[in-house]
Amino acid sequence: MIVGTFSKKDPPTIILVEENKTSAAAWYDMTSNIISIDPNGWEGKDVVMMEKVFILDKPTEITSDMLDRLDSENQIWNKLFSLHYPTTFLPHEIEHARRGNSFHGSHDSINDRLFPGDQEQNRSFNQSSNAVYERVMANGFYDHLLKAAVSIF
Ligand SMILES: [Zn+2]
Repeated sequence: MIVGTFSKKDPPTIILVEENKTSAAAWYDMTSNIISIDPNGWEGKDVVMMEKVFILDKPTEITSDMLDRLDSENQIWNKLFSLHYPTTFLPHEIEHARRGNSFHGSHDSINDRLFPGDQEQNRSFNQSSNAVYERVMANGFYDHLLKAAVSIF
């Protein structure tokens, strides 16, 4: 299951694609359980900054200072990984994965408990995406991202 949440599927694999046959910046495929992210069109200055933040400074963990810089200055981060309302791409696709439906699938509101200790309540797709993403982050997602970034950049 997606760490710390009630989900229908195992955690999805997140990949960067070389070729994109869709018009989407990110999408979830239910059959393969893969979230694909298209890095084509990422601005050079944002890539350079992420390399510096994640690689060159040799961080051992993602600090609040790093997150503040990324949140305020980096468009890749702000489109994909940050916690905003309405939700960014990755939380949106993680919620599709948790629900076990594809990006063509439903964006219905749900009345459900999303994680242990949660109260059943009605949430829009954006609200449930962000609630799940907060749980995923609380379970160390950004530190996993830091480790994965070494192979991305
Ligand atoms: Zn969607």
